[in-house]
Amino acid sequence: MKTNPIEVRSGDGRYYYHIGAPLFCPACGLAIRAIEEEFCFVKELLLAVYKCSGRTECGELFYALYAIGTATGNHYHPNLLYVYPRSYDDVMQKFDSVKATSPDFIAAHGQARNAQSTGDFELAACGYRNAAEILVKDYAMRFHNVVADDNLRYMSLNDCINKYLTGESDAVVGHMIRIFGNTAAHYPRIEAPFDFNEFMAYYGIFVSAMIKNVMIETAKNLLKK
Ligand SMILES: [Zn+2]
Repeated sequence: MKTNPIEVRSGDGRYYYHIGAPLFCPACGLAIRAIEEEFCFVKELLLAVYKCSGRTECGELFYALYAIGTATGNHYHPNLLYVYPRSYDDVMQKFDSVKATSPDFIAAHGQARNAQSTGDFELAACGYRNAAEILVKDYAMRFHNVVADDNLRYMSLNDCINKYLTGESDAVVGHMIRIFGNTAAHYPRIEAPFDFNEFMAYYGIFVSAMIKNVMIETAKNLLKK
């Protein structure tokens, strides 16, 4: 897990503990700079209490447990063992309606989520962009009778969005995922501001829009019967 290096002193000031603060709030899922609230020493362990500095109203406390290990002089380099709570995934919880439509999307989303949780935000953005493409293509196959052939395989995400996301706002957020994702995926890099949290805000809207589309199409099929 990627972390931000910080230094903690023992109560008597004699020892230095060089630890890594998580770069990711497990409560809200945003990339943050963890606010240091409290450090407790429990035998061989160091328990750190952090507060989320996310731009939302999150402000949740979360915990990291470190194994202190052995000192070099009066310096320790404790090893991060565990962050609690385990990452909360509000998007994942709403996925029941798309699970049947696109299990590959669920898998790709999970991999991107793992990259995000270790602080690999560019890799995560590429992964989420890829997950979005899978979801749009599965949606086209499931509800628009599109065949899983080379035409679809090589169809760009841009064309997929234009063809299958007919609602204007759905297409707009789809294109935002595509453009942000391409910024992270394509090389040489273009000089464009990339704000991962903004990307994730659009991704959340995109997934909600796709859940809505899947549910509406499913309902249409039920009503036809
Ligand atoms: Zn948070």
